[in-house]
Amino acid sequence: MQQPASPHASPTDLHGLTRDELRALITSWDFSPVHAARLWNYLYYEAAGALDSDAMPDIPARLMERLQAETALTIPPVAHEARSTDGFTRKYLLSLADGKKIETVLMRFTGRVTACISSQAGCAMGCVFCATGQMGFSRHLAASEIVAQALHVRRILKAQGERLRNVVLMGMGEPLHNYDAVMRACEIMRDGSGLALGARRITLSTVGVVPGIMRMANEASPIHLAVSLHAATQAERRKLVPAAKRWPLDQLIDACRYYAEKLNRRIFFEWTLIDGKNDTEDHAHAVGRLLTGIHAQVNLIPLNPTAAYDGAPGHTSAAKKFQAVLAAYNLPSTIRQRRGIDIAAGCGQLAAMS
Ligand code: SAH
Ligand code: SF4
Repeated sequence: MQQPASPHASPTDLHGLTRDELRALITSWDFSPVHAARLWNYLYYEAAGALDSDAMPDIPARLMERLQAETALTIPPVAHEARSTDGFTRKYLLSLADGKKIETVLMRFTGRVTACISSQAGCAMGCVFCATGQMGFSRHLAASEIVAQALHVRRILKAQGERLRNVVLMGMGEPLHNYDAVMRACEIMRDGSGLALGARRITLSTVGVVPGIMRMANEASPIHLAVSLHAATQAERRKLVPAAKRWPLDQLIDACRYYAEKLNRRIFFEWTLIDGKNDTEDHAHAVGRLLTGIHAQVNLIPLNPTAAYDGAPGHTSAAKKFQAVLAAYNLPSTIRQRRGIDIAAGCGQLAAMS
């Protein structure tokens, strides 16, 4: 006999199921797997905005009734939208079912569109220069809430005849602190007959959660890895990144080396350039020595302003010198194009009060 649903249990959100799980659910109700494939297509190719026969006309009425009774399709409404004056960036404040708010950013770089999505409401890691860290931790996002952000961007692009090609988990939160939900969301977003963000189209950025990096290596995770470094000595790093006390720099570098060798893959290292703090040529030499032997690329990010940190962005001339030093160590590097600073949508500026 079926157990009555607990009054507190929320129905399964369809955006949190993999394609195999969706098929298993539909066939367990004695419907054909063909309907599961159609439903998947509605969910991800069409990016359907509702669970009803208007949005999904080819789903049989009996199946639709059962879906409506036992599952949910939550589309987080947009509480606020901001567009940067240069037209390259749009930031969306999305409301979750419990009223928490998260931010999702659509960014245009030369030749590509990227969705920057959140993995948590707030963040527990407390990096001193980051607005999300300054607001503290609220809760983990469910896989469905992570997928819903990519779908939100897909809908906007689809209406303009464009496709979403890249996702970066660089919004609010620390993705490896919410490992299972993040990896489940990545599996759903990578599915070739859905959002099809396969083939290294998803990049996850971590503050340096060592067990999470080891797990990605051991599970041969297909997701690209970016590690927020910011300092090349433990003493300097722990001042900027409190999480370094828990996962010290030597352990982090060992984990990175293990990951890069095991998966034969390049790692991106992010370095927020703070004037006079970590942007000198000496710092660059220290990075070069630290990363020797790791297949790496360094992404330099000029500091973006946040309320509770008074550091200044490194100068472009310093960034260029930094790059030249790294090149001498055979370390390729980029200086991140600044995007969306006027609407506080740049790296580390995302904060949403609930
Ligand atoms: N929690 C993850 C991903 C989100 S932050 C992480 O820390 O990696 C995304 C990137 O923005 C990280 O590299 C982070 O160090 C950087 N960042 C945070 N605050 C910033 C700021 N004020 N200016 C520039 N980059 C910042
Ligand atoms: Fe969290 Fe990343 Fe911000 Fe640090 S930089 S507080 S890990 S979101």
